[in-house]
This record gives sequence, structure tokens and C-alpha cells, in this order.
Amino acid sequence: MGLLAILKGEQPGLFTTLLNYKNAGQFGEFATEYALKNNNLKGEYIVLKNAYVPLKNKTTEIDLLMIHEKGIFVFESKNYSGYIFGEADELNWVQKMSNGNKHIFYNPIKQNNTHIMALADYLSLPNRAFTSYIIFSERCTLKKVPKSTNKIVILSINKMLRTLRKTLKKRDIIYTKEQIKQFEKQLKPLTKVSKDIKKQHIDNIKKRYESKVCPFCGKKLIKRNGKYGEFIGCTGYPECKYTRKIDK
Ligand SMILES: [Zn+2]
Repeated sequence: MGLLAILKGEQPGLFTTLLNYKNAGQFGEFATEYALKNNNLKGEYIVLKNAYVPLKNKTTEIDLLMIHEKGIFVFESKNYSGYIFGEADELNWVQKMSNGNKHIFYNPIKQNNTHIMALADYLSLPNRAFTSYIIFSERCTLKKVPKSTNKIVILSINKMLRTLRKTLKKRDIIYTKEQIKQFEKQLKPLTKVSKDIKKQHIDNIKKRYESKVCPFCGKKLIKRNGKYGEFIGCTGYPECKYTRKIDK
């Protein structure tokens, strides 16, 4: 964390951080939210977090969403360490740790595209109304990831505000204050879902993983608990070292 960014209110200081986040997995979301709020951006906008958007007969969870007078921005935060490798159209990306371990995770571009599709459907807006932001923590190095485009931005959190400000400067105002309020009214209920819906959401994800076999050795997969929370491992461990992160 940069001292200047903390003083400017762009990054949470250590004390704010300790008070506000519960585990490492949520820190990315917290830091992104903190940067967006605190009057760091110009113009009329609102920030919503943890929206459960209907998708077919399930739900998809959006970490953070900014409805700005110049467009709608959908954020997916990855609080990973190590080296990150991925291609735009690959199904999975890889996190390589300094000890040589590799972890596979679902391509966050595809993951956030699903969020956007669900949101576009829910708000009756075209997909092009949305901009996708994939935010990685400062703890990792983006070794080989796709170049950002106008619609899909992949970057480290310390570059997020600068990039957003640049993007917003180039755009025209498209939504009135009333329209932003209207979107907020439509979306607010999605952030206040019952425990049952949240549980069902998690159960669906677990089921999705448990129904698959290990792509390395064909054995069954199982949910495990590690230092950084839950992950999917192979029942063939320790012979087979396949692990993957649980993507919401
Ligand atoms: Zn295996």
C-alpha cells in the first residue's frame, strides 16, 4: 500500500483495513470499494456491492458495481499473490506461486462477462452499456494477461483509479441523475437477498465442482480448506497436485 494513496483516501490505511475486512478473500473487494467511494471520482455515481443477479434459474454474484453518469462498470476482484498467466479466450488461467505450486482459476474475463450478461438482461440494456474491470491485488504480478480494451480492463488495483479517471474523462454523460436513481432502485433488492438465496448460490457452485473429475488424473474432486480459505483439490493428492480456486 502506498502512503500517498492512503493519505489521498484512495487506499485504506492499515487500521481501516483491519477494522473492515474479515478474510483475505474479501480484501480485494474491500480495497476496490474503498477506492471507488471517498469522492475519488468526478461525476454522479453510486456503488453497489454483492448483488445476486438472476441468471436462468440460478444467481450470479457481482462483487462491485458502479453506475456512473458515463456508464456502468462491473468489477471482479482477485486477491491473489504469485504470478498470473492467462489468455483472453482460454477457459482457465493459472496462478504460479514462488514455491512452484500452480493453482488454476476460471478465466475472470469470462466470469465477469457472465455477470454482465445477467445484468444486461435484468436491466434490459445492451451488453455494450457495460465495462468490465478485472482488478488484481498488488500482491501478484500480472505476468502475461490480455491487453485491456475499451470494454475489458485488466489491471492491478493501484492503477485502477488512474485508469478509471482517464476513461471517464474521454466519455460523455449518458445517464441523468434520475436514471441512476432508477437503476439503483432496480438493483438494490439484489443486494439484500435472504440467507437462503445466498446458501443456494454457494450450494450450486459446490455442486458444479463436485460433479466434475480431475482434469489431470480423472479422480474425483473434493472441497478442501487451506490457509486462504476453501479450494477444490483432487482426491488423488498427494500424487496428484491439481487444485483450483472456487469462483463465485
Ligand atoms: Zn487429480
